[in-house]
Amino acid sequence: MASPSPSLAALPSVDRLLQRRESGALIEAHGRPAVTGAIRAVLAEIRASTNPVVDTDRIVERVAERLEADAQPSLRPVFNLTGTVLHTNLGRAQLPEEAIEAMAAAARNPVNLEYDLAAGRRGKRDAHVEGLLCRLTGAEAATVVNNNAAAVLLMLNTLAARKEVPTSRGELIEIGGAFRLPDIMARSGCRLREVGTTNRTHLSDYAQAIGPKTGLVLKVHTSNYSIEGFTASVAEKDLSTLCRERNVPFAVDLGSGTLVDLSRFGLPHEPTVEETLKHGADLVTFSGDKLLGGAQAGIIAGRAALVEKMRRNPLKRALRVDKVTLAALCAVLRLYSDPDRLAARLPTLRLLTRPVGEIRALAARVAGAFPKKFEVSVIDCESEIGSGALPEKKLPSAGLAIRPGGARTAASFRSLPIPVIGRLQDGAFILDLRCLEDESAFASQLSKL
Ligand SMILES: *Cc1c(COP(=O)(O)O)cnc(C)c1O
Repeated sequence: MASPSPSLAALPSVDRLLQRRESGALIEAHGRPAVTGAIRAVLAEIRASTNPVVDTDRIVERVAERLEADAQPSLRPVFNLTGTVLHTNLGRAQLPEEAIEAMAAAARNPVNLEYDLAAGRRGKRDAHVEGLLCRLTGAEAATVVNNNAAAVLLMLNTLAARKEVPTSRGELIEIGGAFRLPDIMARSGCRLREVGTTNRTHLSDYAQAIGPKTGLVLKVHTSNYSIEGFTASVAEKDLSTLCRERNVPFAVDLGSGTLVDLSRFGLPHEPTVEETLKHGADLVTFSGDKLLGGAQAGIIAGRAALVEKMRRNPLKRALRVDKVTLAALCAVLRLYSDPDRLAARLPTLRLLTRPVGEIRALAARVAGAFPKKFEVSVIDCESEIGSGALPEKKLPSAGLAIRPGGARTAASFRSLPIPVIGRLQDGAFILDLRCLEDESAFASQLSKL
């Protein structure tokens, strides 16, 4: 074995480093095991390096830096400037303050989660949101689970295990993150009975498929694509009439689902849960954190007898939501009782309806805050709603094109204290400013680039 280089012989010991005054403060902040671990790791790095630094002050600095980096939580706030408002990888909906306060109170304290305060006995977890959901959608009953994938799974498993589920070939969707309808169906224990063709499905296709083995008929919102050209699909009204005649439940997986007519806010119309139930759906499933603008959850609304069956399914227990999610959902649903103020109070809707003029003015203001090594120009661009809502409808927006715009630029923006996520396009790094609300926090960190 080669003898250590003379400089390495001068390397201080772990114990000596731990006894330094600066280490005392680090131990206070991070705990002794973490500091010891960081010292060992830094010493190992120095021993392995071709050009070792043995200066004790510099070693302590490196230990402090390492501890600081390790203390960063893995899950951190970022600036979503991708142009996709409901970005699944960036956590979808931002919650309103009302929901955040309700979540904190529920997290901090015991709550009447499954306790009926009036009667002084065990209550239902769903009770906190069921009334609101029924009022907002016209449903007889509603239940809440972990997400919409769970809602679809619970519904199929409860009503169609070992039975057939006729579904149009044009609606066998894959949503990002491994939600593929045929796979969810298989896991739920039901058999997919494909009807129609990719581009055309008729009422007669369903009529032929429904039989004694049918558990329910499912229609799925084609969230992230549209089929154009020579197409035909069956209206919910017609399908629900057929299902009623044949005495099988008719369910619609709405995906995003919205509780209000978005056209009143100048956005493209998206079928509401209420409309879908009015068209005769017995059950509707939708997400809590897509257009609804709440916490991650899956909601099943519809006929009381069917919802009750799902509550009794042991899977419901495995898929249930916690008190914090319920607190958030409840606070968000309350905002819907005042639709006139919804766009101001619900972040998802506020961002989706943000006037392009306001975004453009914001872009012009922050463009000057970038270091001179970047060439920055204000541009018009288009935002997407995201999360499979209205995939072909774009919202006019504005932002910044930053050059040079390669992967290195994108990486340096991601390494800021509050990482900035944009997109690379045509040789530029594009920031769509629709979702930038904290302008000063954004601008003040740009000098670190
Ligand atoms: C998004 C979506 C799902 C999955 O919902 P999650 O809340 O992400 O689990 C299921 N079906 C449709 C039609 C969707 O758009």
